[in-house]
Amino acid sequence: MSSTTEISLCEPHLTPIKLVYFNHLMKRINLDIDPCDHITADAIGKPGQRVFYLQAQKADQSYTILIEKIQLQTLAIGIEKFVAELEVHNLSLTESVADYDDDQMRILVVGTPLFRAGDIGIGYDSDRDLMVLVTKEILLDEMDEEDASIVRFWCSRNQAKALALWSMELANRGRQNCPQCGLPMEPDGHFCLKKNGHRH
Ligand SMILES: [Zn+2]
Repeated sequence: MSSTTEISLCEPHLTPIKLVYFNHLMKRINLDIDPCDHITADAIGKPGQRVFYLQAQKADQSYTILIEKIQLQTLAIGIEKFVAELEVHNLSLTESVADYDDDQMRILVVGTPLFRAGDIGIGYDSDRDLMVLVTKEILLDEMDEEDASIVRFWCSRNQAKALALWSMELANRGRQNCPQCGLPMEPDGHFCLKKNGHRH
C-alpha cells in the first residue's frame, strides 16, 4: 500500500468569465498521468489578456488544463512550501533542484484543454518519492461534485519545483515595472505610490 497525502490548496473565487465548457458532452475524465515525462505551464496571448495553461506530456500524448493565473501562482507557492516541508521532515531525501530551460517550458501546441481547473491539490507518495498535482474540473451550477473530471499529474520533486519556479516567473512577466516606483503596472493602469496614487 502506498500512502498518499493530499492537501487542498485553494477554492478559487473566480471572477465571472465566459465559460467555454470543452468537456460538456464528454464523459467524466478520471486520469492519472503517471508519471509525467514533462510538466509545464504557459501563458498565451497579449499582456493583460493572457490565458494560462497547465500541460503535461507522457509518451506522445499531451494533457492540457485551463488554469487561472492566480491558481497557477497559488499552486507554485504551494509546491515550494510542500517540497520544503517534505525535505525538512525526510532527511533521507536528496534536496530537489529546479533546473529548467525556458525553451523547454514553453507550450508550443495548446490543443483542446480537458477542462477548466477548479480545486487544485498537492500530494506525495512516499513509497515512490513522487508528487501528485491533482486538478479537478471547476464546478458549474448544475454539476454535482462527483461529476467533475479529475486529472492527477504525477511528477518528481524536481519537475514540480521547476514548474513552480517557472510559473512564478511566467506570472510576473507580461507586466512592466513602473519606472517611478518599481512596482508592476497592470495593463489597465497603475496607482503609483510615488505619485500619491495617481493613475498613469
Ligand atoms: Zn508607480
